[in-house]
Amino acid sequence: MVSRVDLHLHTTSSDGVHSPEDIVARAAARGLEIISICDHDTVEGVAPALAAAANYSGLTLIPGVEVSTDFQKGEVHVLGYFIDQDHPGFNQTLKTMRQSRVERARAMVKKLAGLGIHIEWARVRELAGSGSIGRPHIAQVMLEKGHIATIGDAFYNYLGHGQPAYVERIKMSPQEAVVLILAAGGLPVLAHPMTIDEPETMISNLAVAGLVGLEVYYGGSSPDQIEQLVKTAARHGLITTGGSDYHGLDDNNETPIGGAPVPMEAALKLIDLAEERALKATTKECR
Ligand SMILES: [Zn+2]
Ligand SMILES: [Zn+2]
Repeated sequence: MVSRVDLHLHTTSSDGVHSPEDIVARAAARGLEIISICDHDTVEGVAPALAAAANYSGLTLIPGVEVSTDFQKGEVHVLGYFIDQDHPGFNQTLKTMRQSRVERARAMVKKLAGLGIHIEWARVRELAGSGSIGRPHIAQVMLEKGHIATIGDAFYNYLGHGQPAYVERIKMSPQEAVVLILAAGGLPVLAHPMTIDEPETMISNLAVAGLVGLEVYYGGSSPDQIEQLVKTAARHGLITTGGSDYHGLDDNNETPIGGAPVPMEAALKLIDLAEERALKATTKECR
């Protein structure tokens, strides 16, 4: 156990293995005090997680989301904290993105069939459950059917960018995600910046668009990477956040809940910022 804070957890609402209720129970059992559910392109898990968190007096749950965006040939993820989970525009945009994911997954299954790899669409849907369907589900079915030896093989040889069964998704830029999150009353934070090739330009551009923070304390990051990102955040006047990005996929190799070294102070700063903004918004309304 490293931290009492984990601001990046996935549930069955996207590609996590555990339900929102289960993630909350697991976090509470591990002694965490501040957590956030950040599912891919949906806030569906937030309400059940909030209800579950109410059963644990020492646990605060921050509503969150992880919006997938496209940059050059890869993906950039933007986290949104304290989102209004009932915001109609926000939910509609995410819904459109989710639908495009389903269409894309279907197209990838078709492409695989064209390559002689026949997997059942119904099984892919079943694995995805009510959450957003994605390549991990397709890879899982390929593994079940013995077409590949590891999940990595599926991405490396078939489903990864540029591979024969790859299909593009609907596009959203990182800037658009920042604006979308702000419009829904949320605080946009750049997820795992260490996974971006040249983060400096990206961070400058997003800071102009309204980014408030960087996910500095990330599961699997080295102390050096963390130190560099703390400096980068300070240079751009951004706060720092962090989390494990726990999916529950592989408990032997995955950073566990609370496994990223997120300081309590970082979570408290995020909460302070949300309160400041909410206060500003109410004062504006009163005028
Ligand atoms: Zn991510
Ligand atoms: Zn994530």
